This record gives sequence, structure tokens and C-alpha cells, in this order.
Amino acid sequence: MSKKNIKKKFENIYRIMLKEYGHQGWWPLTSDGKLKPEYHKGDYSYPKTDKQFLEICQGAILTQNTSWKNVEKALTCLNENKLIDIDKILAHQHNALAECIRSSGYHNQKAERLKIMAKFLKATPISMLQKLDVKTLREILLKIKGVGPETADSIILYAFNKPIFVIDTYTKRIFSRLGLCKKDVKYEELQELFMSNLSTNNPQKDTELFNEYHALLVEHAKRYCATKPRCEECILRNECKKSI
Ligand code: SF4
Repeated sequence: MSKKNIKKKFENIYRIMLKEYGHQGWWPLTSDGKLKPEYHKGDYSYPKTDKQFLEICQGAILTQNTSWKNVEKALTCLNENKLIDIDKILAHQHNALAECIRSSGYHNQKAERLKIMAKFLKATPISMLQKLDVKTLREILLKIKGVGPETADSIILYAFNKPIFVIDTYTKRIFSRLGLCKKDVKYEELQELFMSNLSTNNPQKDTELFNEYHALLVEHAKRYCATKPRCEECILRNECKKSI
């Protein structure tokens, strides 16, 4: 397939999903202890407060190796216990914190990671990090214990509102089935494929596009392209190698 056609395909897939699923309203933040993703659909100016910023960082850690559904319960518990707060997380007893986030799995390890993240953010002002370019910011985040590429990129895209494409299991699954990458594609390789085919060189536009595209892929994986795909009803079947 020519470069031009690959680019077209990336754009078509996005258009089809957006038309069918609409704006996803990521990052889904909590409000008064309840998740209300619908309240900011199509508004890419989140986070609006430091609390929301921290909640996105916490969510990015909690979602490691688990579904968002399990993260929702943990975030709701953190919110109800007023633990979406750097100082309170640091002061909170480890076991109590782990218990609060139990639903997200690996709760002891994740409790430690939440504390490490809080310690980092206490020592490094968000306003200083916000001024960094994506590459430098990514390098710094990747040095934090427990922060891998997906977590770092989720924080850069959804908390800092900077343009980077987040790759996850769903992205790899869908795009390998579509015939656009290998099943065992490397994280950075697929990320580069997305960014080179979608970037407009306008950071604001790219941030919004990467935000929405990633969220739409998660939705698509839930609706059709699950481990066992529902190809016959799938909205991307005409674009998909697997279904042909
Ligand atoms: S046609 Fe099947 S494999 Fe292809 S994207 Fe849809 S559900 Fe996934």
C-alpha cells in the first residue's frame, strides 16, 4: 500500500468511528465521587484543576493491567476519601491506600506507585513540567519507578495536553487485524506509524485528534473488536484485512 493510501486509511478509520460512536469525552474524570464522562465530551481543555491533573496521573497508574471498569471503582474510592491530593496520598497509610484501590488489581504495588507519583509531583511543580517539550517530558516520566511508555504517554496526552499517541493492547489488536501492523509490533514502532500518518504539525489539533482517536479505539475494542471479534456487524469491516 502506498504511503498516501496508508494515511487515507488511518483517516478513514477515524472518521468512521467518530461518526458512529461520537466524541468520547476522555479523560473520564470523577465528579462528587461518581464518574461522569459525558460532562465534557468534545471539550479537550481538561484537566482544568490540579486535582483533575492528579486524578489523570492516578488513573494512568491504576489502569495498568486492568480494565477501566476496575479503575472506576478505585478512583471513586480515592475521591470519596479525598485522596486525590498529593499531601494526603503521601500521608495515608499504605495498607489503607491499597485497600481503597483493591478493585484495580496489584493493589499493593499500585499503592506504592501512587505514592511515588505523588512524591514526584510534590518535588516537581506541574507548571515547570508543562513548559517542557514532549521528548524531555517523556524521558523524565519514564525515569519514575512504575511508569512505562503507555503510562507516560497517557499522562503526557491526557494530563499535560501535549501531542503524543498512546498505544495499548486494543490499538495493537485492532491495527494488526486491520492489516496495518504486525501482531507483535513494538510500542514505539506503532506509535510512530500513528503520529507520522496523523500529525498536522499543529500541536493543539494533534493533541485533540490523538485524544479522540485513542478513546475511539478503546470503544471499538469494547463494541466489536474484542478478543473474539464480531466482524459481521463491525463498522470497520470494509477496511479490515481480517474480515475480507
Ligand atoms: S472486522 Fe473484525 S477484526 Fe476487523 S476491526 Fe472489525 S471486529 Fe476487528
